[in-house]
Amino acid sequence: MGLFGGRKTVFVDADILVIGGGMAGCGATYESRYWGRDLKIVCVEKANIERSGAVAQGLYAINCYMGMQWGENQPEDHVRYARNDLMGLVREDLGYDIARHVDSSVHKFEEWGLPIMKDPKTGRYLREGKWQIMIHGESYKPIVAEAARKAASEVCNRIMVSHLLMDKTKANRVAGAVGFNVRTGDFHVFRAKAVIVSAGGASHIFQPRAVGEGMGRTWYAPWSSGSAYALPIQVGAKMTQMENRIVLTRFKDGYGPVGAYFLHLKTYTQNGYGEEYESKWYDDTRALVGDYIDRHPVPTCLRNHALIKEVAAGRGPIRMVTKEAFQDPHKETVGWENFLGMTIGQAVVWASQNIDPKHINPELTTSEPYVMGSHATCSGAWASGPEDYAPAEYQWGYNRMMTVDGLFGAGDTIGGTAHKFSSGSFTEGRIAAKAAVKYVNDMGKAQPQVSEQEYRDLEKVIYQPLENYRVGRNEIVAGTVSPSYLLPLHGLQRLEKIMDEYVGGTSTNYMTNGVLLNRGLELLAMLKEDMDRMGAEDLHQLQRTWELHHRILASESVTHHTLFREETRWPGYYYRGDHMKLDDEKWHCFTLSRYDRNTGKWAMEKAPVYHIID
Ligand SMILES: Cc1cc2nc3c(=O)[nH]c(=O)nc-3n(C[C@H](O)[C@H](O)[C@H](O)COP(=O)(O)OP(=O)(O)OC[C@H]3O[C@@H](n4cnc5c(N)ncnc54)[C@H](O)[C@@H]3O)c2cc1C
Repeated sequence: MGLFGGRKTVFVDADILVIGGGMAGCGATYESRYWGRDLKIVCVEKANIERSGAVAQGLYAINCYMGMQWGENQPEDHVRYARNDLMGLVREDLGYDIARHVDSSVHKFEEWGLPIMKDPKTGRYLREGKWQIMIHGESYKPIVAEAARKAASEVCNRIMVSHLLMDKTKANRVAGAVGFNVRTGDFHVFRAKAVIVSAGGASHIFQPRAVGEGMGRTWYAPWSSGSAYALPIQVGAKMTQMENRIVLTRFKDGYGPVGAYFLHLKTYTQNGYGEEYESKWYDDTRALVGDYIDRHPVPTCLRNHALIKEVAAGRGPIRMVTKEAFQDPHKETVGWENFLGMTIGQAVVWASQNIDPKHINPELTTSEPYVMGSHATCSGAWASGPEDYAPAEYQWGYNRMMTVDGLFGAGDTIGGTAHKFSSGSFTEGRIAAKAAVKYVNDMGKAQPQVSEQEYRDLEKVIYQPLENYRVGRNEIVAGTVSPSYLLPLHGLQRLEKIMDEYVGGTSTNYMTNGVLLNRGLELLAMLKEDMDRMGAEDLHQLQRTWELHHRILASESVTHHTLFREETRWPGYYYRGDHMKLDDEKWHCFTLSRYDRNTGKWAMEKAPVYHIID
């Protein structure tokens, strides 16, 4: 196709539309078929489900497995664990729901061909920690994708979904989505009775530590662009805990994971002078968060806190002591294999910096913040809970349905439920799909209607950056700086700088306050105004443009939530300098937001946290 002519409009009708074919999307697609034998199930993915999402290059461990068949853990134990790690605030109903079903998902992975390591003595899955089991996981994603491919009526790869469509006959009901093919440029209109959003978390909203020649390297997948949040936000779905961004302690420069090293190789950390430092910060941390510091295991954010403080006190760098463990040839092999299965880049960085962990203790650092709902963090959409378990206030219809009718979510999309990881995200996709099938069946003939006016208007908006570039390009003879358009990379860097400096990124040591946040919101509003002047050279840049739109909306949400919660609940993830302490009296609650796309205003409220499990 020429860029400006001959573009086709492709209509795809579905009973259930799954947006994003990562772990949760594959789970949703698979399970939709199980319950909806005769339904039309369509999975739409901006990349190719074979190797898309955060699990694209494989994993070395499945981080959420109860082991109920051997009586290792019960779902209640997992809820207690996640609640403790998130400093008291999780949706226990949703977490319990995942935990009680997650083992069956893992058994399916094994049945489909995923090699899971076994303990030679017991024959059980080999544990890395209390919740983690070890896998040979290079092909984890292709294996899961195959199950989804076989279940789907159609998988539409290479379609970037930019907007959801709403029903023209019934307010607050979803009716489908629109997007464009990133290879052909064709415009896609999806009409669906129910939509499941499973479009992953958000990296690159805060400036990464890796800039310049290292730009693009982040811990979370660089292609996770916040669509999971922006798509529901645009249509007025309520969001929760968006302030709860995650910061990770990782090997420096390669973002290599440390879990297997701590848990399996039994390594430990020390400061630049070879001293143990965590205990030094005990009193300081206790003054901020009270007895949360005495909990076991110590919440993830508080472990970051000690590291951040020690470095700020001038006693960095923090190093992981690997020299001892690596004297054991078996442990040395496990240490390297851990990267080869999921973060080859870390091995390459070490090689390039002359670091052999057998002889040099490698440096650790804390990452830039990420927004996601499935790791040790729980940002995302506010969803209805399971009928048999959720308190009445958390139920308004179908399990995992957001506050928009017919709009479901799973994985990083859904808020309040940390520690789902790959297996829990897949499981939540299955749970959402079962409910979505019921929703479609209950709907009968009362199907949503799509407005032609709405999608034709969106079509103009979506492709406008190509036109801006075509026209504006004539005003300059060379280079990338134009008086009339902004390139997506420039917009991205501006966003990252705003979030970094005003909303608690690395350059301020994760510190922010009400004044900074309000200024951040003003700057974000200016960036949003300039988004009308985006210029896209080609379809690739058009995709970058829409990813940036999504990142900005997610960032605005993060900033509003951070401003609303007047306490420092998770030191080590971020600090409100004007409210440095955890305040259980006022803030032992969820924060909720709702965006009004007609006025551009955000409404904030609190929701109660119900402790269902003792
Ligand atoms: C570095 C790293 C290490 C991890 N390690 C582990 C581990 O060891 N063990 C473990 O169990 N878990 C691990 N996880 C967590 C696990 O990967 C996530 O919990 C899980 O992938 C979340 O599933 P999801 O479906 O929500 O998101 P994803 O799996 O990321 O899927 C999102 C999908 O949506 C697509 N998409 C996004 N936007 C759009 C759009 N606008 N239109 C169409 N498609 C779109 C993406 O391309 C992607 O395919 C790790 C994650 C990361 C980043």
